[in-house]
Order: sequence, then structure tokens, then C-alpha cells
Amino acid sequence: MIEFKNVSKRYPNGFEALKNINLTIGEGEFVAVIGLSGAGKSTLIRTINRMHDITGGTLTVDGTDVMTLHGKSLRAFRRRIGMIFQSFNLITRTTVVKNVLTAFVPGQPWWRATLGIYTKEEKMKALEALDQVGILDKAFVRADQLSGGQQQRVALARTLAQNPQIILADEPVASLDPVTARQVMDDFRRINQETHIPIIINIHHVELALQYATRVVGIREGEIVYDGPADQVNQETLDAIYQTKKEGAA
Ligand code: ADP
Repeated sequence: MIEFKNVSKRYPNGFEALKNINLTIGEGEFVAVIGLSGAGKSTLIRTINRMHDITGGTLTVDGTDVMTLHGKSLRAFRRRIGMIFQSFNLITRTTVVKNVLTAFVPGQPWWRATLGIYTKEEKMKALEALDQVGILDKAFVRADQLSGGQQQRVALARTLAQNPQIILADEPVASLDPVTARQVMDDFRRINQETHIPIIINIHHVELALQYATRVVGIREGEIVYDGPADQVNQETLDAIYQTKKEGAA
């Protein structure tokens, strides 16, 4: 369970990107974080795995206050949090399965990582993860020969190989065409339903958010202005999140 209590985030330049965030996300949830560009979506997601440190309040993951983690404990914690980016972040000149195997590098002795030696168990796990996202047949193809959607699936498989307790995704479909974006969202939904791993996805495409997520968190200027079921989001909610009703402002 992820629990934000009165969380704020002020960047070193003084800008307050998150203000008094209260949010609890449990097992099996599929949460879409939506809002205008600059609203704080990415900052919110990145505080969960400590890519960004919060500056006020408390943030706990399964009861652990993330700000108490340092060095080894922080590295171990991060290994259990999958993170998917818009840009896939693959090693394009090597095979798909080798990309997935990199998930194991952080926990390996340095000499195994240097030599690129993986255990049989790790190799099985990598192939299993590729099977889970439907691209086992591409295991020995070079990553840069795959389409964008397939590359994002490799990134998802790499994350699954980590045995994540949470999956965070920062604009995972932003650089994909609409058809491929849906395929990747289908994968997220299936993985969420099959594994019950909570998925928190930052997405600017509202229709996809409403269609795929079970819960929507709407952020405006660093504050949560909506938190509820995706199927209860209506035009009024969207206006509040995207502040399209300017006429009432003055
Ligand atoms: P979103 O993901 O909703 O587009 P972000 O979380 O990336 O928004 O950014 C929220 C706000 O914080 C923006 O106004 C952005 O300019 C600001 N911001 C992001 N990163 C930094 C930083 N490192 N230093 C200062 N301000 C930042």
C-alpha cells in the first residue's frame, strides 16, 4: 500500500510542485494520474520510488517511510518498484532477452554483471516475462528492430522480471500511435488483472485514462482536485482538472 499524508514537494528553486497530497493506493489498483502539462503528475509518480524526494509530510510504501531509506536499503527498495518511461530506455543494439536480463544486474555480484553471466533461473524468468507481454517470439531479435509498441512491451517485461511490488509508468504511451498505445494499455490492464500489482500511470491522454484505469487522480497546480472511479469522471470533473471554465474565474 502506498500512502501519501500531507505530502508536499518543493524543488530547490523554490517552486512547490506538490501541495498537501493525501492519497492511498492499495493492492490491485490501476490508477491514472491526469492533468495539464506542468500540473505535477510526473513529480507525484517519481516521489514514490524516490527519484524525487518529498519535502513535507510522509510517504509510506507498505508501512515503510520512504524518506528513512538510504544506501543499501534504498537500492533494495527501488529494485522492487518497476518504472516505465515514455522513451522505453532499452539498450537498442542488443537482443530483447538481454534487455530483460538487465533487470537482474542491480542485485548481482559485480563480476557477474561485468561478464554478463546470468543464472538459469534468471534466464527462465526473463523468457517468462516476455511471454507475459506476448513477445516471446522476439526474444533473440535486436531491440532496435522492434516497433515502438513492442519496445515498450520489452520495457514492461524487464519491469516484470524485477518482481515489482508496484509498477509506475511515466507517460508510457505518449510517443506511440493511437492503435499501438491501446495495445500497450491492454498489456498494462492484463498484467494488473492477472498479478494484482498496483499500477500508477501518468498519462495526458484522457480517453485512454478513463477507458483503462479503474481510478483517476486529477491534479491541478500540484493539488489533487479529483480522486475517484474512472467511470464517474464527467465533464464537470474534467473542467475542474483542466480548468477549461475560465469565465467563472474572474
Ligand atoms: P507534469 O508531469 O504534470 O507535466 P511535472 O511534475 O513534470 O508536471 O512538473 C510540475 C512542475 O514542477 C512544473 O511547473 C515544472 O516546471 C516544475 N519542475 C519540474 N521539475 C523541476 C525541477 N527539477 N526544478 C524546478 N521545477 C521543476
